[in-house]
Amino acid sequence: GSKQRLLVVANRLPVSAVRRGEDLWHLEISVGGLVSALLGVKEFETRWIGWAGVNVPDEIGQKALTKALAEKRCIPVFLDEEIVHQYYNGYCNNILWPLFHYLGLPQEDRLATTRSFQSQFDAYKKANQMFADVVSQHYEEGDVVWCHDYHLMFLPKCLKERNSKMKVGWFLHTPFPSSEIHRTLPSRSELLRSVLAADLVGFHTYDYARHFVSACTRILGLEGTPEGVEDQGKLTRVAAFPIGIDSDRFIRALELPQVQDHMKELKERFAGRKVMLGVDRLDMIKGIPQKILAFEKFLEENPSWRDKVVLLQIAVPTRTDVPEYQKLTSQVHEIVGRINGRFGTLTAVPIHHLDRSLDFHALCALYAVTDVALVTSLRDGMNLVSYEFVACQDSKKGVLILSEFAGAAQSLGAGAILVNPWNITEVASSIGYALNMPADEREKRHHHNFMHVTTHTSQEWAATFVSELNDTIVEAQLRT
Ligand code: UDP
Repeated sequence: GSKQRLLVVANRLPVSAVRRGEDLWHLEISVGGLVSALLGVKEFETRWIGWAGVNVPDEIGQKALTKALAEKRCIPVFLDEEIVHQYYNGYCNNILWPLFHYLGLPQEDRLATTRSFQSQFDAYKKANQMFADVVSQHYEEGDVVWCHDYHLMFLPKCLKERNSKMKVGWFLHTPFPSSEIHRTLPSRSELLRSVLAADLVGFHTYDYARHFVSACTRILGLEGTPEGVEDQGKLTRVAAFPIGIDSDRFIRALELPQVQDHMKELKERFAGRKVMLGVDRLDMIKGIPQKILAFEKFLEENPSWRDKVVLLQIAVPTRTDVPEYQKLTSQVHEIVGRINGRFGTLTAVPIHHLDRSLDFHALCALYAVTDVALVTSLRDGMNLVSYEFVACQDSKKGVLILSEFAGAAQSLGAGAILVNPWNITEVASSIGYALNMPADEREKRHHHNFMHVTTHTSQEWAATFVSELNDTIVEAQLRT
């Protein structure tokens, strides 16, 4: 075929690899947002390049894994343990992630981070070079190279240095913070300059794109235009491309017998009570303590609701080896315990808190039976849970309470009840408003969001980004 090839470069490949023998690997596809987004882009022949999530020190293992992955159109980047520690756990997760989400570190961690900064940044650059090596080995003229996320901010520059004709796009899946925050990063200029080497730079929202352009004008002294950032006549296009979900996949799942059975069970289990739902990774950015405290306040102020509502909080464990995350887990457990002790009865508790993930079908069933979904992220690039909830609600037409600090607030704002998660009084009264909302208002709000979620899909997102990248390059050639 003469399809254009698309090389998708992300820290993690969309498969998990488990070693079953010296040269034997078991692969499991993980259908995350990005995978389903790109499955829908039929006009390209897609290859994935990234880390398989395992340390493979021996050549036999590497060869066998490379071969197994090739069948899934995946190409591995092998990172050793020390690099993963410094680049991934260190620079990516302890420095960039908190900074991009406006999170402060505890004082002692901050000093430790300051001290190890240079070695972690060196490892980050080295890791990005290793990704670039693999891309170069597999690149063919005319390919589009799409780099993803904060793990690979150095990659556009590495790639362009090797081949200035390569078509390179970069997309950030997190927020990009205010330039006042980005300024504090010791490597602030180097990171911006390497991202600017790309032809097209994309963000979820217009605000993030604007923050990035301001950072380039204020920190680098470059010119920001409505099109992007200009440096000595060379334009880097900067624009917003809000991601979506594969809404059909969710809508179809609701028709499956096992999902229907599960919904029936849940309805019987919670008969006579309204179901409120939270689904989050147990991360600081998700505002889980704030959400639960607001729910407590609501129960405090509305005694008549105490035996008529239940909050189901799915808290997916993440980075469980990091002390700060362990602290968050026990903090959440303590609050949940207190509230259940305070408002529970011998037969029922107001909060069901689960420290685990659910499979796709269980999650769909849960979304579908929910009356009110609560998303209280303190910062969140987009928040796909809010989209998935909406996709599963075409029968029930439940209410979405959504943090104004999630990217999704820009797209679902008109249908959702927007809240400031720091304002517990406001969230508590929004819970009351949502639970009491008349059917016609619920329908109107749901319809608005449902239209958005089903028309702004992940497939459309990916296709738009790639075609914009192709156009940008054609325009650049016309200018010179
Ligand atoms: N998710 C999942 N299993 C669970 C809970 C959540 O697979 O038990 C998925 C969920 O369907 C969603 C993703 O995790 O696609 C969370 O994405 P989101 O953008 O909301 O937040 P992130 O975790 O990326 O910060």
